[in-house]
Amino acid sequence: MTPTRAAALAELDAFLPRVARYAADRNDTTLAGTSRLSPYVTTRLLTEEEIARAVLARHPFARVEKFVQEIAWRTYWKGWLEMRPGVWSDLRADLAALAADSASPSVQAAREGRTGIAAFDAWARELTATGWLHNHARMWFASIWIFTLRLPWPLGAAFFLEHLLDGDAASNTLSWRWVAGLHTVGKHYLARSENIARFSAFAATPGLDETAEPLRDSRAHPRTPLTFPSPPAGARIGRIAHPEDVTWPAAHAILAEPDLGFSPAVHAFRAGAVASTGLPVVAFSGPALDKWAAANGYDLLVLPWLPVGPRRDAFMADPPQTPVHFEARAWDARLWPHATHGFFRFKEQLPALAAELVA
Ligand SMILES: Cc1cc2nc3c(=O)[nH]c(=O)nc-3n(C[C@H](O)[C@H](O)[C@H](O)COP(=O)(O)OP(=O)(O)OC[C@H]3O[C@@H](n4cnc5c(N)ncnc54)[C@H](O)[C@@H]3O)c2cc1C
Repeated sequence: MTPTRAAALAELDAFLPRVARYAADRNDTTLAGTSRLSPYVTTRLLTEEEIARAVLARHPFARVEKFVQEIAWRTYWKGWLEMRPGVWSDLRADLAALAADSASPSVQAAREGRTGIAAFDAWARELTATGWLHNHARMWFASIWIFTLRLPWPLGAAFFLEHLLDGDAASNTLSWRWVAGLHTVGKHYLARSENIARFSAFAATPGLDETAEPLRDSRAHPRTPLTFPSPPAGARIGRIAHPEDVTWPAAHAILAEPDLGFSPAVHAFRAGAVASTGLPVVAFSGPALDKWAAANGYDLLVLPWLPVGPRRDAFMADPPQTPVHFEARAWDARLWPHATHGFFRFKEQLPALAAELVA
């Protein structure tokens, strides 16, 4: 997978003729039923809005509703986490507390695909070899990790983020929590041998715990409403993109991908997406940003919104002294505030949004 805009557009073009079959084929991991666009979306080599526009230019909303909904799942997760950053800081705290467990033989066996559960082991190896897993395989994998192997879910989420080319703090953390039964409290996802056999190449997966109870977590995560202020007037503005939004319009430069301890393939994909813009690359550090701002006469740095996640943590740990303003894309500013409750309420926005996109 090449991290360039040209490759992203070519993949989108290749998928468009298949989008009408998406609803029927998407769950079957033996079919090429999904778009595989996620690494491009995560870097914003392609935006959710342009993918939605492209499919709606070909088909009426009713025909591609399922696909537009899946695009919207990503937007929903991002808005939901943005309003509840405590979920992410709790995960970081959990991971710090679990540091010793991450080296345990059972966790290592799961990460390396040596558990003896053939399907699970194959997915673990596929993830580390390719940086991608089908959505259904991710659900089964997370469920077996949590409910059959009884391993801590934060370590599974960290394993995914380390290796997924589409790694995204919101989609990944909240999907793991959803599987565990922590997102919709009491509703968890149990991997069943019959379901795996129906939708994958594995005939039977004996030994799964198909009756486990959902996990519980008593920590509260209050919601902070989002606001999207305008930048102060009159400033000399330096616009600088970053690895989570490499196609942000009218950027003068772009931040380098920091070293986040992810796999070499993940780092190379992000760094490649940054390099592919042809923009001057500024090191991901406060002093480097200050130097760049001073050299170019800027007194305000405007960046695309840096969502809750590892790059925001890295930025805030070493911020520039030059004032910074984060600017949300119109799509995010419009939709994120609706991620107040469950996805079913959120998706009520979609018919009106689809009508606007084709108007
Ligand atoms: C445990 C678990 C962890 C996950 N971690 C991530 C992650 O780190 N990054 C990530 O982008 N997705 C994650 N997902 C969601 C989903 O699996 C991937 O987005 C999807 O598999 C990408 O394949 P695709 O591009 O072919 O998707 P398609 O089915 O073609 O969907 C089109 C686009 O919609 C979005 N999308 C589709 N399904 C989902 C979903 N369930 N949640 C959020 N967005 C979705 C993606 O941007 C995707 O590219 C995770 C799901 C699970 C169950």
